[in-house]
Amino acid sequence: MPTITTTHELTCDVLVAGGGAAGVPCALAAARHGARVMLCQDRSVLGGNASSEVRMHIVGANAHGSFDRGKELQTEAREGGIIEEIRLENCVRNPQRSASMFDLILYEKCRAEPNLTLMLNTAVTGVEMDGGRIERVVAERQSTEDRFLIRAKAFIDCTGDGRLGVEAGAAFMEGRENREQFSESLAPQQADKCRLGSTILMQARRHEQSMPFVAPPWARKFSREELKLRLYAVPGEEEPTHEYGYWWAEWGGTLDTIKDNELIRDELLAIVLGIWDHVKNASPDDDPFEASHWALDWFGFLPGKRESRRFIGQHILTQQDVLTSRLFEDAIAYGGWSLDLHPPGGVDAPDKPPCEQHPVPCLYDIPLACCISRDVRNLMFAGRNISATHVAFSSTRVMATCAAIGQGVGTAAAFAATRGLEAADLPADGDTMQAIQQCLMRDDALLIGCVNEDPQDLARTANITATSEVSGGEALQVISGQTRGIHGERGAPPGRSIPATHRWMSNPADGFPVAIQLDWPNAIEPHELQLIFDTGLHRHLTLSHHNGYTARMHWGRPQPETVRDYTVEVLTDEEWIRLIEVSGNYQRRRTHGLDTSSRFTALRVTVEATNGLDHARICEVRVY
Ligand SMILES: Cc1cc2nc3c(=O)[nH]c(=O)nc-3n(C[C@H](O)[C@H](O)[C@H](O)COP(=O)(O)OP(=O)(O)OC[C@H]3O[C@@H](n4cnc5c(N)ncnc54)[C@H](O)[C@@H]3O)c2cc1C
Repeated sequence: MPTITTTHELTCDVLVAGGGAAGVPCALAAARHGARVMLCQDRSVLGGNASSEVRMHIVGANAHGSFDRGKELQTEAREGGIIEEIRLENCVRNPQRSASMFDLILYEKCRAEPNLTLMLNTAVTGVEMDGGRIERVVAERQSTEDRFLIRAKAFIDCTGDGRLGVEAGAAFMEGRENREQFSESLAPQQADKCRLGSTILMQARRHEQSMPFVAPPWARKFSREELKLRLYAVPGEEEPTHEYGYWWAEWGGTLDTIKDNELIRDELLAIVLGIWDHVKNASPDDDPFEASHWALDWFGFLPGKRESRRFIGQHILTQQDVLTSRLFEDAIAYGGWSLDLHPPGGVDAPDKPPCEQHPVPCLYDIPLACCISRDVRNLMFAGRNISATHVAFSSTRVMATCAAIGQGVGTAAAFAATRGLEAADLPADGDTMQAIQQCLMRDDALLIGCVNEDPQDLARTANITATSEVSGGEALQVISGQTRGIHGERGAPPGRSIPATHRWMSNPADGFPVAIQLDWPNAIEPHELQLIFDTGLHRHLTLSHHNGYTARMHWGRPQPETVRDYTVEVLTDEEWIRLIEVSGNYQRRRTHGLDTSSRFTALRVTVEATNGLDHARICEVRVY
């Protein structure tokens, strides 16, 4: 039969399937480390559950609510690296908290990378194997009637559902393991196929006049009794808020969240509209929710999916690994969200709270071995489908953790692809793992207990002074090896962090400008300067459509601690030359090419202003 579909044969180094919370940082990291990357994303926007199609807010190891993990200079648990770069960009350029602006920022980040080919509306649907390796993936773009056969060295499944890996025959787990299987006290006695359910979110807006809501006839009817354990829908339970709901409108956990997805979507629409009907119309004679002037503005048609398949990797992360912060030599990321289990029945289990959160005492390692298939040698994965039990997954699944994993896996994949190594061999290759970890730290990723040992970094050999400093914030702190404090309460496990501020801090009494200077005994000829600024990693920072949560952040403006205006000068032949002048900075990690034709013996960073703080702070200076 003739076909109208055009087939294209393409080649890259690293193929990333799925452009969600994990896939975008994964593709960016691999591309930034020299791999030619193709990112296939089946939807027209990037971001997965954080995109405008679902609108879940990104949280991570700093947790929140009663499990909040954050104290200035002591427990700075918010993720660094690419997800921080994205959050800061979004925070400053999207004060209006538009979901579409977030899509745009992800899209821009991908388009800006010369090594990255972004293929939107392109679903990976099959693979061609060569023994125990993937040779090519088959990807389809229905909108243009195109079919792609993409050859790569490493393949990374960031699809959430694991379509690429399953097509390759990689082993996976579904449902809940029993308590004995991995000695997990939080697992059920009997294994089952139940999983966390899916949710459709909504947004509402307050109007000047009263706004009616007519529910479709198929919307569910909810009584007050049925919602008694669900916040926001019960007057008086919490400050009434209608602008963003309802993460607990969960359903489908007893079904197959892949095969039954269409049925789940229909029922979730009936549920979310039914809850809104309850809020708007449950009491015709009064307005217990003060919702009369509120009207639905948006609700999704794409179920936000929490759980489907989890691959079996070289290691399976367990409850014990998470709760004891087990040390992994091949760590590429960390987590810290609580073990967050939900009743599979969702809203059909009204007598059970919508989630049961078990605190995770300290930050914990996520090893690369959890991100490499047990059976397919060049298959890696990142995101909610990594190799973890249902219980451990309930913590690793949050999006900033997925993003940190994505950056780690993307970096490792680039190492493998550009050095002729096989992904499957990386975790046991100590030297390569150490190089990957050093590379991740240079890119501002936190790895618990690891410090900068990069022999190429010339800052580590400099004599460092400042025109102003405070006790504990001495200039030398910029080469302490860590770029944040994690020694505080609920930070790193005991013995795996260095208690210090890990940043130069000038004395507020000295005002601005203040400068930090690096001197070398012999002239050097470096090509790059990297600065890590303070962006308040002890605080929350995420695009949320929830006003109360946003009020706890510095949203819509740069973080006050961050250096705003600075200059960089170098000393050549007894003469200071100004090489760099920056104004309006709001990013944490800044790299600058040092375009100097002559060698120099000193480098000076002068801070002219911050974004609000009364003194200068620089967490790290690296010179290459
Ligand atoms: C209702 C709900 C509430 C949640 N609450 C939070 C929260 O408050 N904070 C938080 O951080 N996390 C939360 N989570 C968890 C979090 O959203 C997920 O665990 C996370 O999104 C997983 O990231 P991921 O990149 O692995 O997958 P996803 O975000 O699902 O992204 C996968 C991407 O791959 C694409 N894709 C799928 N198949 C293919 C294919 N074959 N080819 C190409 N592309 C494909 C998808 O379209 C999608 O864009 C919640 C989840 C849900 C559903």
